[in-house]
Amino acid sequence: MQHSVTPVGIVHSCFKEKFAIPRQPRLAPAARGVLELLPPFDQGDAVQGLEQVSHVWLLFLFHQALEEKPRLKVRPPRLGGNKSMGVFATRATHRPNGIGQSVVRLEAVEPGRLLLSGIDLLDGTPVLDIKPYVPYADSIDNAINQMASDAPLPINVQWSDSALHQAHEHALRLAEPLVELIEQCLAQDPRPAYQVPAPERVYGVKFWDVQVRWHYPQPEVIRVLEVAREA
Ligand code: SAM
Repeated sequence: MQHSVTPVGIVHSCFKEKFAIPRQPRLAPAARGVLELLPPFDQGDAVQGLEQVSHVWLLFLFHQALEEKPRLKVRPPRLGGNKSMGVFATRATHRPNGIGQSVVRLEAVEPGRLLLSGIDLLDGTPVLDIKPYVPYADSIDNAINQMASDAPLPINVQWSDSALHQAHEHALRLAEPLVELIEQCLAQDPRPAYQVPAPERVYGVKFWDVQVRWHYPQPEVIRVLEVAREA
């Protein structure tokens, strides 16, 4: 059976590239975005009652990881990228039908748009469906996942004085918790597990409209060097 789906909305996210997006939602509470609802769901009727809900499940398309040929096995970054697992044992982006799911905080419901935080979604992600989080059914106290039992341990993020000053300035301009966003995302250590970073190697990523640059003075320490508006 084949069935086509049509997005109900598009996410406008702080994350402009895949690199440095947390691997799951809620790891960076300062990661915010707006889900713009598309017609006919941009009318108040479609979200009536949603203001009674603190979190929603988003079902979405990994639109920048779609592939023709399905993979049976994948190498999840969480396992260091060198161990393969059955695709259905993982939350890898490369999967049949390219469908992702994230539970995110619903900050506000406005006509035609939902304000979200704690997202792990790339800018432009098409959303296929939205469902309310149901605490008594969705939260399982004794659930086990031996591959990913706890959130990854955050690493130490330090700032150069100038980068911290720049981040505060851009936070004011954007009216966004940019310092927290940078700290929470970099604390997840975005570099691929197999990369041993030389201290002089500079990494970079774009959050909102600013380019963040950092290096690793020691293997488990990040130092933010610069937060500059993209030209
Ligand atoms: N929480 C979701 C799930 O379990 O289905 C996503 C998990 S997946 C491991 C998270 C990664 O997906 C992020 O680190 C980001 O790099 C990537 N990602 C997010 N939005 C994407 C998109 N629209 N297309 C491709 N990759 C995306």
